[in-house]
Amino acid sequence: MAHLPVFPAGASEAGRIVTYQKAGTSNHNKLPSWALDVALLQPDGSVKWDAGALLLFSRLMLAANARVVWGGDWDHDGCTDDQQLHDWPHFELTG
Ligand SMILES: [Zn+2]
Repeated sequence: MAHLPVFPAGASEAGRIVTYQKAGTSNHNKLPSWALDVALLQPDGSVKWDAGALLLFSRLMLAANARVVWGGDWDHDGCTDDQQLHDWPHFELTG
């Protein structure tokens, strides 16, 4: 299976960092997957994935399962300002 070469961006090549995971090591790549990316479909057909909307959605996810980690608050301290990488749509389960 071929993987997109996204890891080198910002790491060993110039550009914005888009992932800290090497190809195949993301929780998205486990089978079954331990991660998902979310966008919120609105009644008018538009899609929201701004930080505010995903912050509200993250509260539902965290209330549903304490093992959920949100890409807007990786260290799970309730603060979104202290993250090295914001991945607002990303949710994953811890082990
Ligand atoms: Zn993701």
